[in-house]
Amino acid sequence: MDCLFCKIAAGEIPSTKVYEDDTILAFRDINPQAPTHILVIPKVHIGSVAELTEAHAALVGHIFAVIPEIAAREGLTGGFRVVSNCGPDAGQSVPHLHFHILGGKELSLEMA
Ligand code: 5GP
Ligand code: ZN
Repeated sequence: MDCLFCKIAAGEIPSTKVYEDDTILAFRDINPQAPTHILVIPKVHIGSVAELTEAHAALVGHIFAVIPEIAAREGLTGGFRVVSNCGPDAGQSVPHLHFHILGGKELSLEMA
């Protein structure tokens, strides 16, 4: 499939990885909106939050178990934001499910 984040997950496009296991990958956003801006993706292709079902519960649970580990390792002791843009109205630009982790400064009420 011609999907940017599938290619990053497969290692066909390089990324700055901060976490990887069999099912998920986290890497630094190429255009950071905050001092720490990391994307967490499932390796399997899922288009967005809109495609999630009960069948993905373990995978999404795993992502949300790893997010605090990443935040701690990044030193985000002041807090952080987790965002997933879903569809055109939210400005989703890459159609592969991803969760932004944003932190390292006091965030505005905009996404970052
Ligand atoms: P969205 O706009 O879909 O919520 O988020 C997509 C994110 O992917 C954006 O923050 C954008 O900067 C990031 N991005 C797009 N292309 C690449 C890339 O090739 N490498 C990395 N590391 N991030 C990317
Ligand atoms: Zn994909």
